[in-house]
Amino acid sequence: MSKKKFDTDAIRTQIPGTPEREHSSPLFLTSSFIFDSAEQARALFANEIEGNVYSRYSNPNTDEFIVKMCKLEGVESGVATASGMSGIFSCLAALMNKGDHILACRSLFGSSHQILNQIFPRWGIDYSYGDIHKTESWQDLVRDNTRLLFLETPSNPGLDLIDLEWAGEFARQHNLIFVVDNCFATPYLQRPAEYGADLIIHSATKFIDGQGRAIGGVIVGKEKYIEEIAFFTRHSGPALSPFNAWLFSKSLETLPVRMDRHCDNAEEVARFLGNHSKVNWVKYPFHKEHPQYELARRQMKRGGGVVCFEIDGGYEAAKSFIDRIGMLSRSANLGDTRSIVTHPASTTHSKLTEEERQMVGITPGLVRIATGLESPEDILDDLKQAFS
Ligand SMILES: *Cc1c(COP(=O)(O)O)cnc(C)c1O
Repeated sequence: MSKKKFDTDAIRTQIPGTPEREHSSPLFLTSSFIFDSAEQARALFANEIEGNVYSRYSNPNTDEFIVKMCKLEGVESGVATASGMSGIFSCLAALMNKGDHILACRSLFGSSHQILNQIFPRWGIDYSYGDIHKTESWQDLVRDNTRLLFLETPSNPGLDLIDLEWAGEFARQHNLIFVVDNCFATPYLQRPAEYGADLIIHSATKFIDGQGRAIGGVIVGKEKYIEEIAFFTRHSGPALSPFNAWLFSKSLETLPVRMDRHCDNAEEVARFLGNHSKVNWVKYPFHKEHPQYELARRQMKRGGGVVCFEIDGGYEAAKSFIDRIGMLSRSANLGDTRSIVTHPASTTHSKLTEEERQMVGITPGLVRIATGLESPEDILDDLKQAFS
């Protein structure tokens, strides 16, 4: 399959059709596949020929989703997983050994923290967190056994950025496997492989599905690492269901259109919040007040579909704002057609200690808005009345 423009690849990357001459890729709900002969079965198991055997490790719908994600991220190869977290876990667990050390940014997704803080130490895999505002100090965090650099940009929920060009250079200098959680940006807004990322992970649950229907994940990147990860997932089994893969591949057809609308709405929300007297500060990568606005313009196409702000009055003010919200959903998700309002300190990031939350800027008054695709007038009307 040849490479076309991003929007075309998102639509025209399809598995070969069946004799039914269907236009849209069909769904293959089958756990196993049949062999034409004993010899074909032997050759498939010996990896001498390519073909489906069993849906734990390959399925046409999963393949279409992976091939499409690889094209969109501009990389060679990939593995799909049952959730974003099983993607992150499988990627790190497949590549790390006892005694290895992972260097990560402190502003990671909550469950990624739990893997590094609580699960891996039991198996002798150590970690350090770097402060993304002090990248000059990261040099001192690298040890002899540091093997992997794990970053997330923009961060959740603080929307802080890491300079990917700097990170790529840093990873090369120290010979680290460079992994990026690109969930917030999607390949439409940011392609970490262009800066030297070896592996890119997505929670497909968010903007890739984009309609709040299904959980899934995907890891894409360099073939030599994907091979090791595919071995790990094949035998440990966090397979993405073919049904969800089919949904995600369909959803990717509209990714560019949806992302532009998410960004349009987020820009309007950021502008509104920036001018509101009850808002201490608003953060959005493409909002001029963002301390890393210039960097955002350099490495992202647009600012994404999440805005955060601090309401004047702390936790109590945030609680009553969220309780007064009418149309927007009170939920912990993001990247949905429906706009969502979240209070990170008491929900998604409640497992962090107070000190950890402070270090990544999750104050008690912080509110996250994941702008959906509704009319911007209706989103703003709801925010206005929730403030009043
Ligand atoms: C949601 C999310 C994840 C986890 O994905 P799941 O599909 O919920 O397992 C990982 N990273 C980021 C940045 C996320 O927003």
